[in-house]
Amino acid sequence: MNTYSDSKGKRYTTPQIEQRIKKAALELLEMQFVEHGYNFCQCCLRNDDKPIDVSHTISRKKAKEDGCVEVLWDYDNLEILGRRCHVKKDALGLNFNKK
Ligand SMILES: [Zn+2]
Repeated sequence: MNTYSDSKGKRYTTPQIEQRIKKAALELLEMQFVEHGYNFCQCCLRNDDKPIDVSHTISRKKAKEDGCVEVLWDYDNLEILGRRCHVKKDALGLNFNKK
């Protein structure tokens, strides 16, 4: 199975990466819930932009290619987004990458 490196050279398999991402995403949603009493999209600030996803600013693909997979579970690289905003953001990302 392929493994991917973090910036210190430690290697992770995709299931190990996905498990850490899931844990960080749940923690992020939990922190937002504790602070505000509900979960909402950090882009449009609506709680009816559903389902709520946790989006990566630096994508899985890029983090794996660049050998810095730890950013995938770094809160600074995670954003809580509703589905509408998530789709919009990913579409912008694709356009950006095409340049
Ligand atoms: Zn939104």
